Amino acid sequence: MEKTPRSFIREILKTTERSEVISFAGGLPNPSLFAVEALATAAQDVMADAGRAALQYSTTEGYLPLREFIAERYRQRLGLSVNPDEILITNGSQQCLDLIGKIFLNPGDPILIERPGYLGAIQAFSLYEPAFRPVPLLDDGPDIGYLKAMQEEAPARLFYGVPNAQNPSGITYSEEKRRAVAAALAGTGTIFVEDDAYGELRFDGRRLPPIRRYLDDATIITGSFSKIVTPGLRIGWVAAPGEILEQITVAKQASDLHSNTLAQRIIARYLETNDIDAHIERITRVYRAHRDLMIAAIEEEFPEGVRYTRPDGGMFLWVTLPEGCSTMRLLEIALQENVAFVPGRAFYVDGGGDTAMRLNFSNASEEGIVEGIRRLGTAISTFVR
Ligand code: PMP
Repeated sequence: MEKTPRSFIREILKTTERSEVISFAGGLPNPSLFAVEALATAAQDVMADAGRAALQYSTTEGYLPLREFIAERYRQRLGLSVNPDEILITNGSQQCLDLIGKIFLNPGDPILIERPGYLGAIQAFSLYEPAFRPVPLLDDGPDIGYLKAMQEEAPARLFYGVPNAQNPSGITYSEEKRRAVAAALAGTGTIFVEDDAYGELRFDGRRLPPIRRYLDDATIITGSFSKIVTPGLRIGWVAAPGEILEQITVAKQASDLHSNTLAQRIIARYLETNDIDAHIERITRVYRAHRDLMIAAIEEEFPEGVRYTRPDGGMFLWVTLPEGCSTMRLLEIALQENVAFVPGRAFYVDGGGDTAMRLNFSNASEEGIVEGIRRLGTAISTFVR
């Protein structure tokens, strides 16, 4: 436990519960987009039609119709052939990271992770005391030269990455980078953990092939209904080759027997009886508008010399202030102004990120985005003069 960082974000979220605080800190979906009525109907129907099964213990692998839906969607969206038997339903995709850590990582095992990297993954894997090897993330994906050099030193056990609209940077790997990552890992024994939490939330450009397409059996994909249906029901999944999935299944059995039976059936029913593509289209339309609004406000309110990413999906953008401007210090000033964000430092396992910060654009209202960026701009100007 001593080696496992507390989640910065959950700590900041506590201070942002006050209603006057505009928070760009959390990674919350916008609750105005939750399909409350449709989910209520699905819940009622499940209870009426199959209440006893829905309230019973169930299999560790999860509800078969839901796994079939996920497999079919992989086929339709990504042209990926995944058998429902290669899918296991988890308690949010966060649980996948814990289970993967549990079965793969012994203390000191090398694991590659993006720099900056997803804090929840850093936390989950830290419990197993691996040797983190951060790979710098460039505008179009990981630094391949660096990755190759690391692999030559000693191949890692795992490479954990988020190729679509990465958390925290908002960066999406280009197609060339996907091929190059696969080529750098092929034949080395390293398994790529492809976290696709945001793949469905794509605003611009065409959908890019998953890395699994190029690496096949050396890939584990994780997915989630959190960003496209609801995070509160805590339903995610992992898709992995048979042998790996068997081990994950045993690890899950030991940990919690199975995921919530009722929640799995409610989501399955909701997906059967509603048009999920239309729903995702509604979400992406709102998030795209929020991203555009936040960027326009940044251009207006932030002083010169501030850089930012322009994410083509997801929920976050990444801002870098000029040299010497500490975002830890900025956070103190910003909180006095009732605006919050996550300082970049939280996403680095080896120090760094001092001048960076992550801004969430999905959760705040349009007025909140404009006002919050105005307040942040004022706070930043106290440094950059
Ligand atoms: N992976 C990434 C990259 C995330 O941003 C998140 C949510 N913050 C998760 C996994 C976990 O989400 P969930 O457990 O709700 O599926």
